[in-house]
Amino acid sequence: MVDSVFMAELSWPEWQARITAGVPVLLPVGATEQHGPHLPLGVDVFLPTAVSERIARELGGIVAPTVTYGYKSQPRSGGGQAFPGTTSLCLATMVLLIRDVIHDLGLHGVRRLAVINGHYENTPAIVEGIDLALRELKRDGVADMSVVRLDYWDFVRRETLDQLFPAGFPGIDLEHASLLETSLMLLVQPHLVEMAKVPSDGPAKFPTYDRSPVPPNLVPASGVLAVAHGSTAEKGQLLMDDYVALITAALRAEFAS
Ligand code: ZN
Ligand code: MN
Repeated sequence: MVDSVFMAELSWPEWQARITAGVPVLLPVGATEQHGPHLPLGVDVFLPTAVSERIARELGGIVAPTVTYGYKSQPRSGGGQAFPGTTSLCLATMVLLIRDVIHDLGLHGVRRLAVINGHYENTPAIVEGIDLALRELKRDGVADMSVVRLDYWDFVRRETLDQLFPAGFPGIDLEHASLLETSLMLLVQPHLVEMAKVPSDGPAKFPTYDRSPVPPNLVPASGVLAVAHGSTAEKGQLLMDDYVALITAALRAEFAS
């Protein structure tokens, strides 16, 4: 028997046995998106996958294959679509992708699912995909699947943010490729981080509205929206400890009922 928390590493009979026993399944959802010159394009894939893996070990759950493309990057939260490498889905495609994956998980017996989002722009597409999947499952005779949807970065204590940002937290949308994501990457994929390339052209100054086409000088040329200097693996560990503890507690409470 293969001992793994990853669905992709299990045979179908092993998967079926665990699902029949009622274990929870986590579905990380990410994006392929620029994260400045010092981080790889897969940050939004690596981070929710790493968080999900740790939670699955706590809960005895399984991590389904991560959705590695996401909804279009927006200038004020991810730098926008103009950066080479930012490779995204239309909203309709993304909604149907989420719907189809959740539908098939439910049809084959998953009854407790947590969708762990790692890309700011994905949220509405995931909400809609869950709704359509549950609607279809009901028509297929499955009415007892329970789905939790969350953005992992919400599960951090105020004290941790105060410790990491003594001058004040800039807000999660501006944190793109900045202190939080860089510190977490130093923790989970340190060989992919190049601290010598951390740029100094931020923080971005955005208006409270969007414009199309995107004005040429709106986004810092590096693609980093706030500040990544001062990132460390120790800060990443503080964040990861909060995410895992608080999300695990939330899922235990939700899935107990
Ligand atoms: Zn990101
Ligand atoms: Mn993103």
